[in-house]
Amino acid sequence: GRIVAESAVDELRRDAHGAIRGAVTRSADGHRRTVRARAVILATGGFQGNHELLARFVGRFADRLLIRSNPCSVGDGLLAALTAGAGTSPNMSTFYGHTMPAVPADPPPAAWTSVTQYATGDAIIINERGERFFDESRSLADELASSEIIQQPNGRAFLLVDDRLYRDEPLPGRSTQPLGANFDRAVASGAPALTRDSLPDLAEAMGRWNVSTVGVMATLEAFNEAVARGGGASLPVPRRARAFGLLGPPFRVMAVRPSITFTNGGVGVDVEGRVQDRGGRPIPGLWAAGADAGGTYRDGYMGGLVLGLVQGRETGSAAARYARTLNRQPL
Ligand SMILES: Cc1cc2nc3c(=O)[nH]c(=O)nc-3n(C[C@H](O)[C@H](O)[C@H](O)COP(=O)(O)OP(=O)(O)OC[C@H]3O[C@@H](n4cnc5c(N)ncnc54)[C@H](O)[C@@H]3O)c2cc1C
Repeated sequence: GRIVAESAVDELRRDAHGAIRGAVTRSADGHRRTVRARAVILATGGFQGNHELLARFVGRFADRLLIRSNPCSVGDGLLAALTAGAGTSPNMSTFYGHTMPAVPADPPPAAWTSVTQYATGDAIIINERGERFFDESRSLADELASSEIIQQPNGRAFLLVDDRLYRDEPLPGRSTQPLGANFDRAVASGAPALTRDSLPDLAEAMGRWNVSTVGVMATLEAFNEAVARGGGASLPVPRRARAFGLLGPPFRVMAVRPSITFTNGGVGVDVEGRVQDRGGRPIPGLWAAGADAGGTYRDGYMGGLVLGLVQGRETGSAAARYARTLNRQPL
């Protein structure tokens, strides 16, 4: 085998029958090299680094996303596959990401995990109209919030907690995610934040961020009333678990920003990782693995490394078996 380093896959190579038989790579100085192969596996890590593709598939505010990953995954695998006639997977608009401090905060990659708001599922998230827009408690550790926030006006949201959550009191049913320390670090990194002793004061102060004071009050009063009645399932946007409300002052709010670690959608593949054309037929010689192989997740998350390690291994084995059947064919 041979590793061609410091080079990007530029395009796929096809034989006279349309089967994929290698790729053309391009180095930083523009040198192009043809690599002949009996099978090709696309594994460029998704398209989260490509704002044009994000705007097309995720939505109009996608350029507000923090790219919380390696920035080099710019959709080269997806684009090469589409050029070769591949179809896309389901779930092109959803992605895995986390709730991060809003600008002007600009934490360096080494600080990302320490300022991530993993406990949003215990808190309340609203948009600039002051409305809740999804059931925050569906996240185990914040994995669903970013896909929802990015669909809100200006891709903005606001994370609200009371003092019980902030101090990590062991409220019945709380998630295992600590809140206070990451909240403080996010604020220290530059996120706009406010602390007030009453909800009307907090709502009033949020007006300076162009957030509807009336909307904030209506949402929080309805939420607290639902908690007093025993839960949030009957709210217009139901809260089916961990409905703690904002009951213990002081109350804190932080402006937050969605981020993307990898895209859920990508190249359409079958269970063996074979890339499918737009009619659902396998394209001979072409596989995809990792985040390039789309559709494993809809809006949940069970790990990113597992995509590479488990499905990548299976796909690699299938591609190797296929290549062995062609051993006598010239490349
Ligand atoms: C801060 C952070 C924390 C994380 N924590 C976890 C965790 O705890 N558990 C977990 O399971 N996952 C975690 N992940 C996610 C996990 O790292 C990724 O989901 C996983 O690495 C994706 O694997 P992949 O092989 O699809 O892509 P990657 O590992 O991203 O590899 C793709 C590679 O392809 C290269 N590439 C791109 N374009 C081209 C091209 N044209 N030609 C050649 N090469 C190209 C890229 O530079 C990159 O090196 C985390 C990610 C981040 C950023």
